[in-house]
Amino acid sequence: MKDGYNRKINYLRISITDLCNLRCRYCMPEEGVEKLTHKEVLSIEEILEVAGESVKLGITKVRITGGEPLVRKGILSLIKGLADIPEIQDIAMTTNGILLKKYGKALKEAGLNRVNISIDSLDPGRYRKITRGGEISQVLEGIEEAMKVGLKPIKLNTVIIGDENEEDIQPLVDLTRKWEIDVRFIELMPIGEASNWSKEHFLSNEEIYQRIEGLIPVKRESGSPATYYRFLDGKGRVGFINPVSNHFCGDCNRLRLTFDGKLKPCLHSSQEIDLIPALRQGQGSLEELLEFATLQKPEKHCMDSDEYEILVRNMSEIGG
Ligand code: SAM
Ligand code: SF4
Repeated sequence: MKDGYNRKINYLRISITDLCNLRCRYCMPEEGVEKLTHKEVLSIEEILEVAGESVKLGITKVRITGGEPLVRKGILSLIKGLADIPEIQDIAMTTNGILLKKYGKALKEAGLNRVNISIDSLDPGRYRKITRGGEISQVLEGIEEAMKVGLKPIKLNTVIIGDENEEDIQPLVDLTRKWEIDVRFIELMPIGEASNWSKEHFLSNEEIYQRIEGLIPVKRESGSPATYYRFLDGKGRVGFINPVSNHFCGDCNRLRLTFDGKLKPCLHSSQEIDLIPALRQGQGSLEELLEFATLQKPEKHCMDSDEYEILVRNMSEIGG
């Protein structure tokens, strides 16, 4: 289905929990979030019902995110259920990778195609500090497992925080020389926990790009928000996703579903469409609400303008 600006919407991102086994400083409060009751969270069956309806509007790609999707009970049956919907051609997951060594093989067997793994530092101390306690060795084991079981192509997503992990830029991009993976820099967004952070923490991707020598441009992929480069001896690519400095709204192809049953037409807007009455009380049709959300998509976000209304939800609730 096309939205009001002639963009084809074929991608559904589903945040299946707001809980996480890490506490990244820009994403989650140190004390974590209060655990909601079962009733406040969509069940696996309800998520599958929404996904099943969404394909009628032309959704063909689904990404599972969170919070940390691998802490949600029932994750394997969710992936199996999605894989059983014939119209869905691509099932991906965004994960911090901590539990990937444990679940990688079962996820692949259930029908997951690929993973994006978030990794902001290769240094054990800095990784522990940013994630408030995470062990980088577990993530590296997770990446190796993902490669072994074929959850490919693998993309590593990195947020660089000024004065925090700038030293990690080079070691992270060097991974693309030894492994056939993409390392992508995502600009830190002033959302939730990071909404009041001081300016020196926000580095533009242009600044990061300038610090890396030897990058050669690669042809742009349609439908991807990233601009890619590679090293002459590179097996993988280095990507830049610039939601703040250079928005890619013109190519937006997505809707978001939150763990508590709201559709978000745009990541950067507070507008949400509640699916619970349709799912639980038979009030209204899911298909019509999905269509409504698609038509509510704004032309572009205004994060870099004075009109921007800071988002109250943390990224851990929306899933990025
Ligand atoms: N727990 C999973 C993970 O970390 O990959 C999935 C959910 S996490 C919210 C998805 C992505 O959002 C991560 O790559 C994280 O770095 C990113 N993220 C969270 N808060 C952010 C912010 N304020 N600005 C930019 N990216 C952010
Ligand atoms: Fe958890 Fe991902 Fe947020 Fe880190 S970025 S706290 S891993 S949800």
